[in-house]
Amino acid sequence: MSDFCPQRFKKIFPLLCLSESEGKPLIYFDNAATTQKPQNVIDATSNYYLNCNANVHRSSHQLSRSATALFEKSRVDAQRFINASSEQEIVWTKGTTEAINIVAQCYGSVFLSKDDEILLSHSEHHANIVPWQEVAKRTGAKIRVLPLTSDGKIDTDNLSTYISPKTAIVACTLISNTVGKVNDINGIVKAARNVGAKILVDAAQAVAHIKIDVQSLDCDFLVYSGHKMFGPTGIGVLFGKRELLMKMPPYQFGGEMIKNVSFSGTTYGELPFKFESGTPNISAVLGLSAAIKFVEEYREQFVQYERALTEYCFKQLNQIPNLTLLFTDIPDIPVFSFIIDEHHNQDIASFLDTNNIAVRAGHHCAMPLMEYLSLDGCIRVSLAPYNTRAEVDSLINVLNQYLTQELRTTVDETSALEDINH
Ligand code: PMP
Repeated sequence: MSDFCPQRFKKIFPLLCLSESEGKPLIYFDNAATTQKPQNVIDATSNYYLNCNANVHRSSHQLSRSATALFEKSRVDAQRFINASSEQEIVWTKGTTEAINIVAQCYGSVFLSKDDEILLSHSEHHANIVPWQEVAKRTGAKIRVLPLTSDGKIDTDNLSTYISPKTAIVACTLISNTVGKVNDINGIVKAARNVGAKILVDAAQAVAHIKIDVQSLDCDFLVYSGHKMFGPTGIGVLFGKRELLMKMPPYQFGGEMIKNVSFSGTTYGELPFKFESGTPNISAVLGLSAAIKFVEEYREQFVQYERALTEYCFKQLNQIPNLTLLFTDIPDIPVFSFIIDEHHNQDIASFLDTNNIAVRAGHHCAMPLMEYLSLDGCIRVSLAPYNTRAEVDSLINVLNQYLTQELRTTVDETSALEDINH
């Protein structure tokens, strides 16, 4: 066991410390929605405005040169983080959603046609469904959907039923935001390669937990958001293989993405600038670079702790009467989705909230998954390495409290009714 100390780790996150010092410690179990931000990320973001605020890539002054150097150094950090072969393969986006939209619009809508198929899975986030529906509408291509195994992973046993020479693109999540299991993306990539299909990997939930190597994965596109890995909101990455990005037309048009503009015609810039029109979110790029360094520094240390915490939380949740996890075996990352018989998930989440425990209830932007499981929603508890066993114990206590109170209310209501009837 490593000597990782969650309490010490938590001290790096000002918001969590503030809630403690105000005597109302927040138990933040909504990390799959967004993680809290460590001090170095906050510092990197504000340092830009405090010390080097200038536009990038254009002005001829010292301040702009410093900002540009930091901005482009961040791209090298992002390249190293997923082992892309060139920084030209790293495109800054607003996040995962925008990155998928770029691929859908600039690859899907341009290169697919009516005889093609787009292969998704039942556990995709809406961000990896809706853009493809739009591609299907525009091109006439058909969407097919991979089923899940009983433990919630993408079923790769019968890939040949779904992947054929008609398959033009496979877009799948590495880890679903509701299931928390690592999908066999290697198997999917191999099958896609055999028929010449392109593959996009949604790594939004994976980057904070597992090391990614796009070269050994051999995917064509991989996307993620900074805010789910301790970075700022409003920034994400589209990795794309150079030869594909070269073939694709730009996403948006304007300044920054051009080589030469005249009224007789415009030529576009080199990669990756061709996809980065307008002034970018410079402070968030610098913040993401700090988040990358943060994850690189701590991931080895917290991985074992996170596993032990996952096992503990899984065991404890299983002891709550009438609580059913959507999938019965332990998730690979600490994301637990469940329902409790006869209780609406929103009521439970509100009760937890009044006890300062932040969870998410609803469809988790995965309505097709809810439909697949015949559910209208569920509760999701998602942990990060600053969470502790004591916090899990508090969750279990509050859930038990809620259930006994509810039981009491139901019994009281029944006896009141009986009194009236007598
Ligand atoms: N894919 C997955 C698996 C996600 O969990 C999320 C965010 N919940 C997204 C895509 C969309 O990310 P963003 O909202 O940051 O664009």
